[in-house]
Amino acid sequence: MPNPDWKIYPLLLGEADVPQVLDAFWSLSREKSLVSVPITAWLLVPQHGGEPILVDTGFRDAERCVQLQGLGPHRSKPEWTLKAQLSKYGYSLEDIPTVIFTHLHYDHAGGCGLLPRAKIIIQRTELQAAAVPMVSRELDFGGGALFYDRKDIAELIDPLWSRVHLIDGDEEIAPGVRCVLFSNTHTPGSQAVYVRTSAGNAVILGDIARKVELNVNKGIPPGLFYDLEAAYRAMKKIKRDADFVLPSHDYEELRKYSEGLPFGEKQA
Ligand SMILES: [Zn+2]
Repeated sequence: MPNPDWKIYPLLLGEADVPQVLDAFWSLSREKSLVSVPITAWLLVPQHGGEPILVDTGFRDAERCVQLQGLGPHRSKPEWTLKAQLSKYGYSLEDIPTVIFTHLHYDHAGGCGLLPRAKIIIQRTELQAAAVPMVSRELDFGGGALFYDRKDIAELIDPLWSRVHLIDGDEEIAPGVRCVLFSNTHTPGSQAVYVRTSAGNAVILGDIARKVELNVNKGIPPGLFYDLEAAYRAMKKIKRDADFVLPSHDYEELRKYSEGLPFGEKQA
């Protein structure tokens, strides 16, 4: 049997200033200030040959994000594009055969149309929730309701539909890479990606948790969730399952992984 270990690299695809209240359940964090967070995707490279997998794709357009989501400033740089970040590791957009979306918020699914041949893996319940978000018209910022960008969802439904692969619950995507559904946590169909590495099991969170120390280690759910009990149970399960917890929006944690995981090994 081939060795199913993977190497994981963070791709920095932008930066955003967002309310710190997103970090922890409201009654435990009254912090109203904005905080600068990274917008991260992850590149999975099999250690012993085979094709890479991408997890998430960043946002579509910094200006559009501010308009649609009513959050703080968002920033892009030429070196933060998906193309530029992949090229650091020797890959082009065409080289990616599979992309997994942890969820379909604008800062994760905004690059869905950039990969010309990738199979696109999404939880069915997430696409359903994103297409018809559970939100009052008063909160619909003209196409950006509840952090979903209708342009992303429209693109997934058509023209990308023939490459969309919907899954229902937990599923192995490749040996050592598994999608695990955490229903009604950050979003209705949020999924984590469990990845086997030679140093242990890594869990790519999407936004199921935001701050590893606060949410996962201390067990305080993040500020945005659909079902508090589901969010609470998710923190427990991730803590139990993960040797390494990889968040999307936590600079402190990302610094640890700037050279990839496992640490101190050359690129495969
Ligand atoms: Zn996010």
